Amino acid sequence: MIRKVLIANRGEIAVRIIRACYEMGIRSVAIYAEADRFSLHVKKADESYSLGSDPLAGYLNVHRIVNLAVSTGCDAIHPGYGFLSENPQLAEACARRGITFIGPSAKVIHRMGDKTQARDAMRRAGLPVTPGSEGNLANVEEAIELAESFGYPVMLKATNGGGGRGIRRCENRQDLRSNYDRVISEATKAFGRAEIFLEKCIVNPHHIEVQVLADSHGNAIHLYERDCSIQRRNQKLIEIAPSPQLDEAQRQYIGGLAVMATKAVGYTNAGTVEFLLDQDGRFYFMEMNTRVQVEHTITEAITGVDIVEEQIRIAAGLPLRFRQEEIVRRGYAIQFRVNAEDPQNGFLPSFGRISRYYAPGGPGVRTDTAIYTGYEVPPYYDSMLAKVIVWALGWEDAIMRGERALRDMGLYGIKTTIPYYLQILRHPQFRSGHFDTSFVEAHPELTRFHHKLSNDDLALVLAAATVAHTGF
Ligand code: ADP
Ligand code: ADP
Ligand code: MG
Repeated sequence: MIRKVLIANRGEIAVRIIRACYEMGIRSVAIYAEADRFSLHVKKADESYSLGSDPLAGYLNVHRIVNLAVSTGCDAIHPGYGFLSENPQLAEACARRGITFIGPSAKVIHRMGDKTQARDAMRRAGLPVTPGSEGNLANVEEAIELAESFGYPVMLKATNGGGGRGIRRCENRQDLRSNYDRVISEATKAFGRAEIFLEKCIVNPHHIEVQVLADSHGNAIHLYERDCSIQRRNQKLIEIAPSPQLDEAQRQYIGGLAVMATKAVGYTNAGTVEFLLDQDGRFYFMEMNTRVQVEHTITEAITGVDIVEEQIRIAAGLPLRFRQEEIVRRGYAIQFRVNAEDPQNGFLPSFGRISRYYAPGGPGVRTDTAIYTGYEVPPYYDSMLAKVIVWALGWEDAIMRGERALRDMGLYGIKTTIPYYLQILRHPQFRSGHFDTSFVEAHPELTRFHHKLSNDDLALVLAAATVAHTGF
């Protein structure tokens, strides 16, 4: 079994992994950039090591991280999500140095990280794949020819993209021409790779993804689906498990497809197969994420399976503990990504000191975060500050619990997306459980709400007024 794990990540996911390690009797090693010196993951791990002053370089330095794992006596590395999690070089370097990488093989990461290769593999495995180019685009003329063969709108996408970036919708030929170079430059800047490809745009689809677990003994199961249709600019905001918009037959079908995909590519560890569901009820494979996802929490809530623990067990070579028929699903779970952004101001990032924080509690509520009162939110990273996860037996109960938990939560000193989520929760369309990826854009009025001043806000206003008045 694995005895000591280096966590090659930061913030809430690092804390999440440390918690799993603790419960498994595994020692944990945290790494941090100086900007993260006061992050909770640094305090919670058994040992912590500084990677220097650059806020990002350390978290992305494969050799330094693997060397540190070796020199601190770790036998495994957990990459979390983002950073090096989908970089085959980390998995490869681990294999060379005798460190267990908690994730799939470098070969599978490489293949699934390239969206055109992944599409190709899935097509060959017999999965329905979104219509589009067979490989990368050679030039804009090829893009136009293809787009006109299956009709506008189309999507230009970065082949190595992720995190919702490097994707543009094109309504017509002119649009396609003007976006072509733009997407290439975005892809180069964000992912260091210029390759792009084209997909038919599925108009107002549902984003449905399936959580899978596969061991190194040929067993693969799914843990049902998540509905991530509540997105802004292709980035998920609220996720739900299971999808309130699928019937049981669709649920079985999509779960089966995901397991088939997992086996077809020789996948091991936890992964996610993402699909688009169109307005006519057809599913299309979109991509596979070869890591733990931000929203793994809601699957844990409805199945009781600790996904991070399973990741570690699988990496240690143990066979899966559950057969498909032993996975029992119960109730509904919703996750809210609490971002340090101002919804009333175009979701502008909001950084600074958290003057006061307390987590929501009570039945069916979980909070995953690395913040605390007095914590200073650094400007260098993802804006996600916390994840609030609620669970209840019924869909309406889960909505009420979500509203209650978000109101219970206290987070002062910076702007967050909490009041925006309260608006969404009250919207009849959301409550009906029938919405697609156009919901956020179709309801700009939800970002205009009356902001009630908290005691902390009032204190700040008073302090500012005092300074203005007295000069101190
Ligand atoms: P999930 O698929 O788990 O919902 P997201 O797409 O929200 O995750 O991404 C989680 C984090 O990982 C974000 O910080 C995002 O910017 C980062 N990320 C995801 N894919 C990539 C990638 N290919 N390159 C760089 N960062 C990525
Ligand atoms: P990422 O790797 O950044 O997560 P995805 O390929 O998973 O990128 O796409 C992110 C989101 O963009 C999807 O959840 C969906 O809302 C939208 N999207 C992507 N491809 C299409 C498509 N062909 N048609 C419609 N929407 C799409
Ligand atoms: Mg995706």
